[in-house]
Amino acid sequence: MASRVVRGGHALTEYLNAAKAAEPLYGDIQKHVLEAALRPSGRRQDVLHPSEMVKPDWCHLAAFHRLRLEVEPAEKRRTTFTRENIFQEGHETHTKWQRWLTEMGRLAGDWHCAVCDGYFWHDTTPAHCHECGAPSRCLTYAEVPLNAHPLRIGGTADGYSPQDAALIEIKTLGLGSLRYERPEYLERYTVPTDVGPVPDLTRLWRDFRRPLPSAVRQTQLYMYLASHFEDLPVDRTIFLYDFKSTQETKSFVVTYDESFSGPLIEAAAAIVDCVATDIAPRCNINSGSGCPSCLEFEEQK
Ligand SMILES: [Zn+2]
Ligand SMILES: [Zn+2]
Repeated sequence: MASRVVRGGHALTEYLNAAKAAEPLYGDIQKHVLEAALRPSGRRQDVLHPSEMVKPDWCHLAAFHRLRLEVEPAEKRRTTFTRENIFQEGHETHTKWQRWLTEMGRLAGDWHCAVCDGYFWHDTTPAHCHECGAPSRCLTYAEVPLNAHPLRIGGTADGYSPQDAALIEIKTLGLGSLRYERPEYLERYTVPTDVGPVPDLTRLWRDFRRPLPSAVRQTQLYMYLASHFEDLPVDRTIFLYDFKSTQETKSFVVTYDESFSGPLIEAAAAIVDCVATDIAPRCNINSGSGCPSCLEFEEQK
């Protein structure tokens, strides 16, 4: 008698998925990661984050509410294990490139000491902690804080190389991240095959010639903050891209163009004024009935 399982195809896939889900350790890891993701992140909620400001659906009214109430965005509650895995992979990739740059002495920024828990700025790889003298093995790179206090903007760049007058952004490109950030790009490289539509990874990577638009907008804002508020001389950002599917890499340069950030800086100034006077701005995404981001706050009232 032919078993349902050995027939293959969809039934086999279903069986394998069920078997995976039934493995208690695998399930426990997923629960562990999701539980950690749902705990408060410790991310500052009293500032505007550049990563949110550059999104096409950044709502000024939601930002106003968040600055007043200092609560985390609800999208955090809708996370999945795959999404958390993508984030984690991104962190690991940052660490790798930052380690190489540290070994080369080409990385400036904040450094954190595991012994005294202090932070200090250093323009190259420090030999010891400036606060307590602990040796360099106790130090980890804590990236480049970019703050505009009057505008209540707070961000962090992945790196800064004084020798290159450049900020550094480290990015992972994978099918998972493209699915979230650039579905239309992935779609363009999806080709029909005998087993259904499949992305043509060779062509996709070959044609990848510039950073994703959201990454460009974000780094332009970072360069604005670096130049105007942090006194860091930068005229470019060097992007380092790691392609998850093949481990191939690419770099791109984005030169500083102040005009990119003008509208975002004006919007931040207007939101800060609204908070100071306690007068809510209008939703800029849907001025009639509001957008999902600001309606979430209306529902809480
Ligand atoms: Zn120390
Ligand atoms: Zn809105």
